[in-house]
Amino acid sequence: MLGPVILAASRSDRMRRLISAAPVTKQVVDRFIPGETVDDVLPIIQELTGKGLELTMDVVGEDITTPEQAAAARDAYLELIDRLKPLELGTSAEMSVKLSMFGQALPGGHELALANVRPVVEAAAAIGTTVTLDAEDHTTLDSMFAIHEELRKDFPQTGCVIQSYLFRTEEDARRLAANGSRVRLVKGAYKEPAEVAYQQKHEIDKAYVRILKTLMEGEGYPMIGSHDPRLITIAQELAHRAGRKLDEYEFQMLYGIRSDEHLRLAAEGHRMRVYTAYGTDWYGYFMRRLAEKPANLRFFARSMISRG
Ligand SMILES: Cc1cc2nc3c(=O)[nH]c(=O)nc-3n(C[C@H](O)[C@H](O)[C@H](O)COP(=O)(O)OP(=O)(O)OC[C@H]3O[C@@H](n4cnc5c(N)ncnc54)[C@H](O)[C@@H]3O)c2cc1C
Repeated sequence: MLGPVILAASRSDRMRRLISAAPVTKQVVDRFIPGETVDDVLPIIQELTGKGLELTMDVVGEDITTPEQAAAARDAYLELIDRLKPLELGTSAEMSVKLSMFGQALPGGHELALANVRPVVEAAAAIGTTVTLDAEDHTTLDSMFAIHEELRKDFPQTGCVIQSYLFRTEEDARRLAANGSRVRLVKGAYKEPAEVAYQQKHEIDKAYVRILKTLMEGEGYPMIGSHDPRLITIAQELAHRAGRKLDEYEFQMLYGIRSDEHLRLAAEGHRMRVYTAYGTDWYGYFMRRLAEKPANLRFFARSMISRG
């Protein structure tokens, strides 16, 4: 029940100021967002790849309000890619981007986001890796899929994300599975209305399994973005039934969540990619992590009270 309240708070400027300024917030944030700069995260990238894990890197930020901020977001990714180059990690370190951070919601935003993301995709390809377009709220998705399709003309490895809580996703999955796309399937992290999305966990989970089956049986590369133990077992079974080898799909989890499971799956020979977010504009990302698990919020609230 708390999830929707927290997600609503994640859109409030007043809450943003309050929570961002609280001295204790930083410690809780660090669990999910291990740094603010490229220098902070390069050692983490090396540590995790050294343990046999792969990464997808997210420079946090979304809902920007000026074209200059969108250009700065593009440049932050270009700097990251530049710094990754000498490490020669190839696809072991890819990028995840939110198109809202590239200007998608500004006037002329579709073209602006495409113009900003293209150089990032080109730079990633030049160091032997790729980019995945994150899924944001449902109003942004037609534009995201159109940008994905456009980028795939030159860079077919460009990935995108689909969310099992949305009614539209089964159809999106059929299209993406047929055209051979790299697709990350997640449950969905935004507050969506009942007209467009399932509201009950069991419906979202059942849709996840149906969609995953479509992806596994299709021509593309499925990326299972979930920490849910039941879904991970089902994914392994579906991959097996579809005759997929271990390198023909991958698991993805968020930095700081079920880290033992990251290592267990990697040790079993699975490709396991850790979504690692960094940067200063962490508020929206952090609030979604709180909303996903009430225990996170209780821990955060207790820390605030005991320090306050
Ligand atoms: C790699 C990756 C990329 C993602 N990209 C997107 C995206 O582009 N768009 C989007 O809308 N959503 C994205 N998400 C978030 C996703 O939609 C879910 O909100 C999130 O993954 C929680 O769902 P779950 O599948 O882990 O299952 P849940 O049923 O929520 O969780 C299963 C178990 O995982 C653990 N867990 C889950 N979340 C947390 C948490 N925050 N803190 C502590 N433990 C937790 C708990 O043990 C929980 O019982 C992404 C998730 C992952 C893993």
